[in-house]
Amino acid sequence: MIEVALLGCGGGMPMPERYLSALLLKYGGRKILIDCGEGTQVSMRILGWGFKTIDIICITHGHGDHIVGLPGLLSTIGNSGRTAPLTIIGPEGITEIVNGLRVIAPYLPFEINMIENPSETINIGIGKEELQIVDKTAEMEIKALVVDHSAPCLSYSFNIKRRPRFDASKAAANHVPKVIWNKLQKTGDIEYEGVLFTPDMVLGNERSGIKISFVTDTRPTVEIPRFIMESDLFICEGTYGAEEDLNKAVKNKHMLFREAAELAEAGKVKELLLTHFSPIMQVPELYRENAEAIFAKVTIGQDRLIKGISFIDK
Ligand SMILES: [Zn+2]
Ligand SMILES: [Zn+2]
Repeated sequence: MIEVALLGCGGGMPMPERYLSALLLKYGGRKILIDCGEGTQVSMRILGWGFKTIDIICITHGHGDHIVGLPGLLSTIGNSGRTAPLTIIGPEGITEIVNGLRVIAPYLPFEINMIENPSETINIGIGKEELQIVDKTAEMEIKALVVDHSAPCLSYSFNIKRRPRFDASKAAANHVPKVIWNKLQKTGDIEYEGVLFTPDMVLGNERSGIKISFVTDTRPTVEIPRFIMESDLFICEGTYGAEEDLNKAVKNKHMLFREAAELAEAGKVKELLLTHFSPIMQVPELYRENAEAIFAKVTIGQDRLIKGISFIDK
C-alpha cells in the first residue's frame, strides 16, 4: 500500500486554505517528498506523519513556490533526530540553489546527497531502514523528464514494483534444489554445489506495480504521455481552469485543466489529480467540467487530500 498526500495545491503565492506545491509519498513507513513550497511543514504537522523518515526529496524546479520551504524543513528534519543521509534530486542548477538556501540552515546532523538532472533511472531499494539508492534489484524506480517551463524543470515518475510469485513447478522443471528455493526467490543469484541458480528459475511472470507521476510546472510536451503512461495516479498542474486563460498559460508556461486532461487521456492513466492552482482561480471546482469533457476520472486537488493505492486494487 502506498499513500499519497497532496500537502499543498497552490501555485504562485500561498493562500489561507491553499499552501504551495508539495506532495508526500509514504511507503512501508518511509517517505519521499516532492517539492517543498511554503506551508509544507504546516501541512505535515496537521497530517502527523512525522519528519524523520523523509529519505528523498525531489524538487521539480527552483521557483520559490516549489522550494522556499526547504531550509526550514531540513532544520526540522535535523531536530527530529535524523542522522541518516538524505538525498535531494532536482533539475540542472539544483545544487547551487540548495547551497544558497542552506546559508540559513548550514549545520544539519545528516549528510545531503545531491543528484542533479538525472538522465538515468534512479533505482531505490526498500528495506527495513531508509530508502536507499541501489545499483539493481530495485523495488522502486524514480524517473525524471525535462519539461517545458521558464526555468529548468523536471517531472517525476515513481514505479513501485511488485515481486513475481514463487512458482514451484518452474523451480522443479529447472531442477533447482529445494533447500535453496526460499533464499533464491528472496535474494539474488546463488551458486550451489558448483551450479549457478538465478531467481527467474523459481519466479513466475512479472506483475504490474504501482505507478505515480507528478507533472508541474510545464506546458504540455510530446514526451509527457509516454512518460506518464498507464500511471495509477497522474498528478498534474492545472494552473488555470478557464479556457480564456490560454494566452496566460502559454506565456507563463503552464497548463489549462483541459490540457492536463488531454495528457491524462493520451497517457491512458487511471486517475488525474489536478494541482498548482493560480491564486486568480478562487474555486477550482467551478472548472471541473473543462477537464471532465476530455477525461472521466478527475479529482480536483485540496490541501492534505490523501489517496491510497494498493497492489490488491490492481
Ligand atoms: Zn509553480
Ligand atoms: Zn514555476
